[in-house]
Amino acid sequence: MLLLVIVVAALLIGGSVRTVDYGKVKNIARADGVTGQLRVALMEYQVSGPIDIEIISGVRTEEEQARLYAQGRSTPGEIVTYAAHAVDTAHGRGGAIDFAVLVGGVQTYGSDARHLYLQVAEWFEARGFVSGIRWTKEFPPDGDMGHINVSNWKALAMRLS
Ligand SMILES: [Zn+2]
Repeated sequence: MLLLVIVVAALLIGGSVRTVDYGKVKNIARADGVTGQLRVALMEYQVSGPIDIEIISGVRTEEEQARLYAQGRSTPGEIVTYAAHAVDTAHGRGGAIDFAVLVGGVQTYGSDARHLYLQVAEWFEARGFVSGIRWTKEFPPDGDMGHINVSNWKALAMRLS
């Protein structure tokens, strides 16, 4: 019932709805500004998601994308993106989130946690979303485990410039 109320409220209020922390999703406010389909799914996840997660990022600015693109090229670290510009990414268009799985409240990464990320991915995939955990060729060995995007993100307007 609670879930129904929030989903209906979100659909009615649309773009103006703000999210609050509770349930299975920590720091959900970091996803503010993402497209409604994804926000509604996150609100459902708060109630019925299989595993606690924390939102790391949602909408990405051009500056943030430039910094990420530099990583593994002109700055230290591993390559985390193949897109030089935010507009060419689901994040830049408000169609994606990055998350971390929480184990005992702690962000948990790495191959040992891949089975947990897979449960989250399958939950979103069952609702029509795309999960980066499948991109094991582009991001070996585990894929972009903490990434979820809407399938039609190229049709979304650019969120920020
Ligand atoms: Zn991502």
